[in-house]
Amino acid sequence: MKYDLTVVGAGPGGCMAARKAARDGLKVLIVEKAREAGTITRFCSRLLRLGSGGFSSGKPVTDIKLHRATCTVEIGPPGEHIIHMNTLPDDADIAYSGELAPVFNESWVAPTGASFDRHAGGRDFEGFVVDKEELLRGLLHEAADAGCEIRSGTRCLAIEDTDDSVELRVKTGSGGEETIRSKRAIVSDGSFSPLIDQLGFNEDRGESRGRIKFMSFILDRADVPFKNPRLRCSQSSLHSGFLNFGPWPPGLWEISCSASVASPVKLPDILNQFLTDSAFSHWFEGARIVGKQACNMDLRRPVRDAARGNVICVGDNAAYAETAIKGALGCGYKAAEATVFALDGKDGNGHYNEYWTHAFNFFSPQYSKRSRRLPTIPSALNDEQTDILYRWLKDNEIYGPPADVLPDNRDRLVDELPEIFAKFFGKLGSGEQAA
Ligand SMILES: Cc1cc2nc3c(=O)[nH]c(=O)nc-3n(C[C@H](O)[C@H](O)[C@H](O)COP(=O)(O)OP(=O)(O)OC[C@H]3O[C@@H](n4cnc5c(N)ncnc54)[C@H](O)[C@@H]3O)c2cc1C
Repeated sequence: MKYDLTVVGAGPGGCMAARKAARDGLKVLIVEKAREAGTITRFCSRLLRLGSGGFSSGKPVTDIKLHRATCTVEIGPPGEHIIHMNTLPDDADIAYSGELAPVFNESWVAPTGASFDRHAGGRDFEGFVVDKEELLRGLLHEAADAGCEIRSGTRCLAIEDTDDSVELRVKTGSGGEETIRSKRAIVSDGSFSPLIDQLGFNEDRGESRGRIKFMSFILDRADVPFKNPRLRCSQSSLHSGFLNFGPWPPGLWEISCSASVASPVKLPDILNQFLTDSAFSHWFEGARIVGKQACNMDLRRPVRDAARGNVICVGDNAAYAETAIKGALGCGYKAAEATVFALDGKDGNGHYNEYWTHAFNFFSPQYSKRSRRLPTIPSALNDEQTDILYRWLKDNEIYGPPADVLPDNRDRLVDELPEIFAKFFGKLGSGEQAA
């Protein structure tokens, strides 16, 4: 057999897996459907969040033992940074040659400009926004240097796990089809994967809790009254979700918004109005839209045993809802390590499944309970109430994401802002989940 391992998909999970496996001496092929591996069209805000806080709740998880996939960044001269994967050995380090945009805090902003923050100190690092394409190209370059074969413009159409190998049917850039056999496969093809469905991995996942659509515009300039910001703006009269703003290296800015796929809301219209006719539009005077990205997200439970037979599912295809870049990198590394173990006759699948089920908050019932969704602030409050809530949080020096600070301060909210309390928790106890 020509290959020990075929990797499907050159996102963070696949690139990391291919590099590690090739460096460990396996004969590796990576196939990527994009014409040029390392280019991205699927929307991602690209923030490498430091620490182990989750998207919605920043609190540590205590009900399961976690060795969460986290990272730190060693800043070198321009173009010579190191991304260090905290729970993994040094050979997981990534030399990153792109630009880093530091984000010092995350702030929620009302139409009046009133705001509250995730962290108490304006100098607390939230993380760095990276040039994700540069990150992937660097990993692919190193994978190729270690002997990995890269086939871009090659889409995997079908996959079958047989007793002693994996067969992949692929469509090449020229339109032809071919079958590739390898001893094992790592499938890292991102959300909505038909391949892991074919292999039966989705059978224990239950129904999706819904789908969310996202859209972002990339801007060439912006002038916001916050330093190194990542902002979640609300203007309920414009949109019932947040209007997000952040840096987009190299040197650009991103605005984005989201809504349920079931909603008739047209996200491009919302973003255009945010830019030109909103409480925030003075930030964007003279800005040009230089790019657009979009994607959907599936709120589906994670696959429990992501390694079975000769296949390991890596990253977003097996996750609720997203593993984030650092999580997918961690999964890719561990999946390659597990592949080497399996080819040596050891329990590689057990090794991966142990990592997978302990590397993410979403396997913690405590985290899931905390991140049960309250109504979003812009969907619950009008512009005036948003202003009152944000000023109250700021004046009382309360910090954190809404999913933490609102439930944690229920008693004070009842007493001090009863009208706002009722908007979030009013129906609790009547059988309706506030989440
Ligand atoms: C709205 C949104 C915002 C986000 N913001 C952030 C953020 O700020 N920070 C962060 O860390 N994470 C963020 N994420 C999550 C992050 O984008 C993903 O978790 C991460 O990219 C997952 O990596 P992956 O390798 O599993 O999959 P992907 O990055 O999706 O890569 C999959 C690759 O497989 C290829 N592929 C798919 N099908 C095939 C096929 N059949 N054959 C060949 N190739 C195929 C695709 O072209 C792609 O290159 C965000 C996600 C969303 C939806």
